[in-house]
Amino acid sequence: MADQKRFRVFATCDIGEAIDLLRSRGYEVEVYPSPEPPPKSLILEKVAGGVDALITTLRDAIDAEVFAAGNGRLKVVAQYAVGFDNINRADANRYKIPFTHTADVLTEATAEFAFFMLGTLARRLWSAEKLVRENGWGTWHPYLPFLGDEVTGKTIAVIGTGRIGQAMIKKCTGFDMNVLCYDPGYQNQQYVHAIQQLKDARHAAGICRERTWIKYVGLEDALRQADFVSVHVPLVRPEESSTPTYHLINETTLRLMKPTAFLLNTSRGPVVDEAALALALKENWIAGAALDVYEHEPLPADSPLRDPAIEDRCRLFPHFASAAKITRLSTDPDKGMAGRCVQGLIDVLEEHYGGDPSRMPFVVNKEAFK
Ligand code: NAD
Repeated sequence: MADQKRFRVFATCDIGEAIDLLRSRGYEVEVYPSPEPPPKSLILEKVAGGVDALITTLRDAIDAEVFAAGNGRLKVVAQYAVGFDNINRADANRYKIPFTHTADVLTEATAEFAFFMLGTLARRLWSAEKLVRENGWGTWHPYLPFLGDEVTGKTIAVIGTGRIGQAMIKKCTGFDMNVLCYDPGYQNQQYVHAIQQLKDARHAAGICRERTWIKYVGLEDALRQADFVSVHVPLVRPEESSTPTYHLINETTLRLMKPTAFLLNTSRGPVVDEAALALALKENWIAGAALDVYEHEPLPADSPLRDPAIEDRCRLFPHFASAAKITRLSTDPDKGMAGRCVQGLIDVLEEHYGGDPSRMPFVVNKEAFK
């Protein structure tokens, strides 16, 4: 089937063995060879040249220009990521081009990385290792040179209780944390109830000493009461929703947090106003932050977040939360982003599910086909 049609695919980056999987089905696949993203002009050239499918990442801006260039031939954009803020959904719908993403297979990886970021901040792991490496470790002492604080029994605010937010709640429950949930669009009360039952069972069985709790609250209460604030929302710009997430964490919301509290962001960079955060860290409005994502990636050399004055309380990671081997590269669509990405593409090109994109599990803009 695929052999006869010989579908043409342009991938804006190498996604490993999943590319061979397409080739073994007779697809003609061109992979942009550089680790850097291709210029938009090249994407336009490839699309205008008649590819059936694009494999994209969050680095590629896919909008009306791209869909127009592919009009009549481009059949699917397969995004290698969960989140699609780089793809203009209204434009995709106008041109009736389905786009897919790789939700679910990176949920646990991202949540556990957020949790490790939390641990790094709470127990000052970076400062502790630096001390040893720089030969500044004097001797064992009850409180010198510094102390961290236990995570157990603390309260976390989970902002956004979708897939990754819920997985983060699960990880935090294993550490006997209290959980404040905030999500204006999706309140999974059943999940919260199940977590409370789990917490109660652990307490009743003597597995943990204190009884811990979980509940939904408003944003202000979540920020005011939490020891850790972890953000798990999509990037939604003000023109796209009445509850946008662009700069959700800003000067006003940072000032609501406790001076002893920490911020974690593994969602998208523009959800946090970095200038406000750098000031908050410098002036100790909050105790620290760990970031995996930035307003501009890679993080510019002159970013205020690199200020040596805040380096002890500002942990910086290179958009790394999903960077686990199976998560990124497995060709199994139930395990890896690569497998899920090509499966979404195959579903559309080979007209699985009766050729109806609204029934295809990895298609995002189902509304355009109903
Ligand atoms: P999801 O759609 O399952 O969950 C997102 C939740 O955020 C939804 O429940 C939604 O209602 C909620 N939300 C929307 N607007 C909100 C607002 N204003 N305030 C609070 N909550 C709001 O998505 P997911 O799979 O959990 O992924 C979340 C995001 O994480 C992705 O969109 C992506 O941007 C990011 N992500 C980053 C990495 C990384 O490598 N750092 C990896 C995976 C995902």
